[in-house]
Amino acid sequence: MARFQPPRGTKDLLGEGMRRHQQVVGFGCEAFRRYGFQQWATPIFEDTHVFARSLGETSDVVSKEMYTFEDRGGESVTLRPEGTAGVARALVSNSLTQALPQKIFYHGPMFRYERPQKGRFRQFHQIGAELIGAESAFRDAEVIAMARDFLVSLGLGDDLTLELNTLGDLASRKAWREALVAYFRQHKDSLSEDSKNRLEANPLRILDSKAEQDKRLLADAPAFDDFLNDESRKFWDDLREALTAFGVSFVENPRIVRGLDYYSHTVFEFVTDKLGSQGTVLAGGRYEGLVEEMGGPAVPCIGWAAGIERLASLIEAPAAEHSDVAILPMGDAALLKSASIALSLRNAGFSVSIETKGNMKKRMDRVVQSGASHAIFLGDDDLERDVVQLRSLATREQEEVAVDAVVHVLERVRAV
Ligand code: ATP
Ligand code: MG
Repeated sequence: MARFQPPRGTKDLLGEGMRRHQQVVGFGCEAFRRYGFQQWATPIFEDTHVFARSLGETSDVVSKEMYTFEDRGGESVTLRPEGTAGVARALVSNSLTQALPQKIFYHGPMFRYERPQKGRFRQFHQIGAELIGAESAFRDAEVIAMARDFLVSLGLGDDLTLELNTLGDLASRKAWREALVAYFRQHKDSLSEDSKNRLEANPLRILDSKAEQDKRLLADAPAFDDFLNDESRKFWDDLREALTAFGVSFVENPRIVRGLDYYSHTVFEFVTDKLGSQGTVLAGGRYEGLVEEMGGPAVPCIGWAAGIERLASLIEAPAAEHSDVAILPMGDAALLKSASIALSLRNAGFSVSIETKGNMKKRMDRVVQSGASHAIFLGDDDLERDVVQLRSLATREQEEVAVDAVVHVLERVRAV
């Protein structure tokens, strides 16, 4: 018979892996609550244009990583490679462009056809946030502070560095881009093959190149700083001032350009040296044209997304949840009685397991190992007198308790 494996680049989430994943999502949701963000869920597939247009035809994601296919009706659809485009599309589809700002978060699976390796999958998960209608650099700083709080709450404050850059406004970027193209054209022969292709289509991406020969050229490339116009320079100053006011520390890194086309002004990444070359765990920036691309008005936004797998691999493993109470019935009548005892305990909020497998000693060993706080023994003579034997696994003390009083007794213990 066939033995199936998960598809290449995907992973089953179970046991500790699932607990790590849930911990990341749980702390994320908690950070979002403190900043007043609300959850949205958009479809995991969209009309292909939603991504192709917004992320830029020359971006890595659109040019080689998208899961695009024709559905049975002949429509071209794409499994979402990221969350922002769908959120912007949903804003417009649901006529919310006049109800700004919208503070949104999401989490869920994303799909990119990449070469699988450590920290890089074909189905992975992101948790992210978008502030739609971000009127000033102050908002950028607040949304970055939210990311910082999230990462600190996961216990990663000391492992991560925030790297920050500005891409300026469109006019600044255009002037710089022209200077860059001119510079690289002069040195075309020294560029890597990849970068030669990027030269006309997307020269900013050369700055992101990992090829040594490109890196050598970058040292003398025209610096963006010289092309920032006054407005962009003020935005950049305001951002850094507001970040300091929010208590966020950062380092400036002019090499951060981000892979997608829609960013302007603020771009940032939280990075670690603990994950080898897949060291970026959370990344984002400001984008101003995306809502317009989706058929809405021009709305400035700031957002970020974190890779859940990368964060999950960095945190300490959360302990497994265990039942509070185990019931160990002896005999058929006791088994049926254990159903109603379990029901009333569960209704009172206790987590209950009914242990039926193996002899009493085996069951008891399992219960002690499970970390339960109490065991309830229930035999024929207990049934006759309508009592149970309640044992505290912490003190090893055992007492006889009337069936009707079990919930009450355990509630009293829980209260202290
Ligand atoms: P990279 O440079 O690593 O390819 P990216 O720029 O493509 O990253 P983004 O699109 O900014 O990544 O996505 C945000 C975050 O999502 C990344 O920082 C990373 O943590 C995570 N991520 C992106 N692609 C993958 C993937 N294929 N597998 C696992 N996590 C991923
Ligand atoms: Mg990528």
